[in-house]
Amino acid sequence: MKEKILIVEDNPIHARLIEMTLRAKGYRLLQATDGEQALAIATRERPDLILMDLNLPKMTGFEVARKLRQTPGFSQVPIIALTAYAMKGDRERVIESGCDGYLTKPIDTRQLPGVVAEMLRRGKDSPSIAGDDCGEENPSS
Ligand code: MN
Repeated sequence: MKEKILIVEDNPIHARLIEMTLRAKGYRLLQATDGEQALAIATRERPDLILMDLNLPKMTGFEVARKLRQTPGFSQVPIIALTAYAMKGDRERVIESGCDGYLTKPIDTRQLPGVVAEMLRRGKDSPSIAGDDCGEENPSS
């Protein structure tokens, strides 16, 4: 079964583009359009990777990433930030908030699958912290 990816993006055009690109690669996709929804879906669905728009309603992507990193089971889940323009200091803020890297929008659809695959690989290689959350996802789902 292909990995589960959560796309957090409030701009429907960007969200759709990412969704179509990753769907073509066979990933299972979840989508959230604001920070609160992102946290709710992430904790319920336990995605293998999260694409996180930084500029979101209610809560910034930075805040969502920070909260997730404090949530049991989410210390190792790869989070790729999506930023509309790379502002000075953004890279530092991205890393500081717990994201593993970032992509600049508009997303390069030829580059995206490779970045996602690489991040998923890295996520699997990193030391497991299994045991601090509620267990594995239901294999039959
Ligand atoms: Mn946005």
